[in-house]
Amino acid sequence: MAYLGNSKNTLEIVKKYNLSIQKKFGQNFLIDSNVLEGIVEASGITKDDCVLEIGPGIGTMTQYLAENAREVVSIEIDKALIPILKDTLSEYNNVTIINNDVLKTDIEEIVREHNGGKPVKVVANLPYYITTPIIMRLFEEHLPIDSITVMVQKEVADRMETGPGSKDYGALSLAVQYYAKPSTVMVVPPSSFIPQPGVSSEIIHLECYKELPVTASDEELMFRIIRAAFNQRRKTMLNSVSSLGEFSKADIQSALEKMGLSSTVRGEALSLEEFAAFSDLLKASKVQ
Ligand code: SAM
Repeated sequence: MAYLGNSKNTLEIVKKYNLSIQKKFGQNFLIDSNVLEGIVEASGITKDDCVLEIGPGIGTMTQYLAENAREVVSIEIDKALIPILKDTLSEYNNVTIINNDVLKTDIEEIVREHNGGKPVKVVANLPYYITTPIIMRLFEEHLPIDSITVMVQKEVADRMETGPGSKDYGALSLAVQYYAKPSTVMVVPPSSFIPQPGVSSEIIHLECYKELPVTASDEELMFRIIRAAFNQRRKTMLNSVSSLGEFSKADIQSALEKMGLSSTVRGEALSLEEFAAFSDLLKASKVQ
């Protein structure tokens, strides 16, 4: 089977299987070999690695992953694509396709079964309609993962990478940066896909920390506070955190004071370190 990373071979597959490309599943197939090589290189995969791919589509990136990794496990929601994947990946004996919704798949079990529980590398051209839930699930469930190298909307990549003071800074920035170090790999134009998405894309590499550089004694509490702080960005920390109903205004105010922050400060001004320290102070106030 020829490589699919170009428009001619992709269109041939579409025609051969009379495939109707599903917008509802965020299907935009890569047709640019430079981009495919770029994502594989940035992922740093070697023949020792087990790779988890989310959304193989017709198998375009899977072919590159199968060539470079020891083993690839790809999770695809669209059952119409399964016979196509059997065809386009017939030359590889190191690929397992799972027909399921990634959000409902037991990833830990896959890692146990295919990599003896050791961390895998995630590589994907993600379906844009569920980028954030996928990334959040991979992190929040503390799944054994070395790194995540993914194509996302450029705007979402910007949110993952930015810090306090930017309009893009929010709950996603803080969640990503708590667990991983993000770096931009390349910006990808709509013309690299069939069909073309309406937005620019970016490949982003998230290198997961083996030891978290910043820790909160109660991660769940910190993320509840972060979500409340950005739910209504214009609200002060005092008001948004008190709307959680878990802490008195006096305790919130005292925590802000101890950190040298004004009682009118907004969440968008706080760094990850400050959110962690603030949540630790509030946690301590509850125990007293
Ligand atoms: N990897 C292919 C490529 O690069 O050409 C296709 C990428 S396309 C942007 C996203 C893929 O994710 C589609 O094949 C789509 O069917 C699949 N997908 C969408 N939602 C999914 C979900 N919840 N679980 C698993 N796969 C999903």
